[in-house]
Amino acid sequence: MSISIHGLNKVFPNGNQALTDVSLEIPTGMFGLLGPNGAGKSTLMRILVALLEPTSGQVNIFGYDLQKQRKEIRSILGYLPQDFRFFAKYKTCEFLDYAARLSGMSNSKQRKQAVDAMLENVGLYEVRERYANKLSGGMKRRLGIAQALIHNPKVIIVDEPTTGLDPEERIRFRNLLSEISENDVTIILSTHIVGDISSTCKNMALMNKGEVSFFGSPEDMLKRAEGKVWRLRVPGDKLHEVDKLYPVITTIPSGSGSDWEVQVVADEIKGYDAEPYPPNLEHAYVYYMENSLNRWTND
Ligand code: ADP
Repeated sequence: MSISIHGLNKVFPNGNQALTDVSLEIPTGMFGLLGPNGAGKSTLMRILVALLEPTSGQVNIFGYDLQKQRKEIRSILGYLPQDFRFFAKYKTCEFLDYAARLSGMSNSKQRKQAVDAMLENVGLYEVRERYANKLSGGMKRRLGIAQALIHNPKVIIVDEPTTGLDPEERIRFRNLLSEISENDVTIILSTHIVGDISSTCKNMALMNKGEVSFFGSPEDMLKRAEGKVWRLRVPGDKLHEVDKLYPVITTIPSGSGSDWEVQVVADEIKGYDAEPYPPNLEHAYVYYMENSLNRWTND
């Protein structure tokens, strides 16, 4: 196991409990941490990269204890935070050189080689003379990952990696992460976008309100939604009623008369003309969030 997290709690000074008894065993490869805004993902990421102290609990990363061996852990970690900013004065290649110096590469010739190779690797060699803050959104994200990778870390932590990227850049960035994870590197990717997880992560966790509510593979999560997704045909004046009764995924005109075709997730449907519909991960996510919320309310 590359990362073991046991009984982690974080209570902020203002009393906000951002993490409650979080335990996870994260293997090598790409790991997705999915959850809505406010679930506690960034807090967990910031604890893992030793920027934030947990209130209690243990974290072990490749055999290092996070409480006692922060320095060692920092040397094997790369971090791409959510709001990564570049100083206006640096060109792309200069910025990466700066990051390499910070990570302890003191030999300038070796550094130049490493920087050039990394620029090639993330597809930024052609724009190396451009000021970093003038790059496109996708290029900035790639430069962000380049700085996180420059010291060959064993673990890379990426917070909300596709925010602000257009669909093409999003796919490109995901593929880049996926390629990196093939070299025996652990990548933890935190996101609130289901699509970021489905195509690339072998394992995942779902977080909600500071707790882990699912841990397993995306396929396992999908299985839980089998038989729980329905397609209903609903007259326009009943749409509001359906919306109140069930979590609605999509609503589209049915193409005949004033009826609508509505996809919902639910254990069963009463009083409407419903047929089962094959689930995707988005359905599973909604189903799971609804169920865990219900579970909490019933507790
Ligand atoms: P996510 O990354 O999943 O959106 P966060 O980890 O940012 O979630 O936030 C989890 C919870 O902790 C939220 O309720 C948030 O308001 C709270 N929180 C985050 N940072 C702080 C802080 N510095 N002080 C107080 N509360 C915080």
